[in-house]
Amino acid sequence: MNELKSMTLPELTEALRAMGEPAFRGKQVFTWLHKGIQSYDEMGNIPKSLREKLAQGYPLVPPKAARKQVSRLDGTVKYLWELADGNCVESVLMRYRHGNTVCVSTQAGCRMGCAFCASTIAGKIRDLTPAEILDQVIFTQLDSGETVSNIVLMGIGEPLDNLDAVLRFLELVNHPDGLNIGMRHISLSTCGLVPGIRRLAELELQLTLSVSLHAPDSETRSRIMPVNRAYDVETLFDACRDYFQKTGRRISFEYAMIDGVNDHDWQADLIARKLRGMPGHVNLIPLNDVAESPLRPSRRLAAFQKRLESHGLTATVRRSLGGDIDASCGQLRRKAMEEAQKGEDSQ
Ligand code: SAH
Repeated sequence: MNELKSMTLPELTEALRAMGEPAFRGKQVFTWLHKGIQSYDEMGNIPKSLREKLAQGYPLVPPKAARKQVSRLDGTVKYLWELADGNCVESVLMRYRHGNTVCVSTQAGCRMGCAFCASTIAGKIRDLTPAEILDQVIFTQLDSGETVSNIVLMGIGEPLDNLDAVLRFLELVNHPDGLNIGMRHISLSTCGLVPGIRRLAELELQLTLSVSLHAPDSETRSRIMPVNRAYDVETLFDACRDYFQKTGRRISFEYAMIDGVNDHDWQADLIARKLRGMPGHVNLIPLNDVAESPLRPSRRLAAFQKRLESHGLTATVRRSLGGDIDASCGQLRRKAMEEAQKGEDSQ
């Protein structure tokens, strides 16, 4: 399903050439697909015979907005997209003064097991295809009527656990004949899969890498993020340091503040020590309450920020958007899954 849209322009051109089409068709079809056509018949400059062949060989199944929530506080829009096979993923459209950002999912579910995260509770169902990641951007634009200028890969899933599809998505969304969104307008967030960080470094992309740190000491980090048992804090910081050296791009470290777990002054001091010699930036996130988790938001945000700043670090507090609409990743999908389950149980 939608395989044609996962193809790069050279691949698409080749696939059409194999069907007896001239080379210029590739670009024409690529442009249409990335505009978000719902049916091949919308492709006005393509012969009917080819439109029919494509419809047969490559059925187009656009994602359906199964749910949509609009925040009354700040206009943030959250979508629950139903994919061709019935799986659901979330995207969030956030409106900032500097432009609209869409946050996309890369997997249906997640297998990383972070203790504070709603996306991982039911595990990973499957990876998304490049087209399914791209469609979240295309159809958010079409549905909202807004132009998206920035993308963050911070929705459901671990992007570096689906890196081949993610790299292809980046190539597609960056393409001048497609959405043409520059790498500098894209951020990718990882829980710290070190081999993926190293592979990304080799590519020297101009995107912003965000690393979900959440604790600077392995004891705490392993408790809340199982990935730390495979790649501990030292290994992670080594990879981050090499990433910076190779790409020259500063890393943004995400830090969700959890009451009594990672909000002690000594942990701020340790972050400063570990980041020495590596220009980076710490983004403090007020923890979103997840009902299934015993972890609670810290009340020490401002003090922790001051402590980091006292070491000369840049630390910001992330502004929370969409607080009234389950906007934090995984919560809407989780709710929909629970309701579907209840529906089945009562039958
Ligand atoms: N798997 C990737 C990207 C998805 S999560 C990653 O781990 O980075 C995007 C960010 O939201 C991550 O920093 C994640 O740790 C954070 N996050 C998850 N649940 C949260 C919660 N309940 N409150 C605050 N931040 C949360």
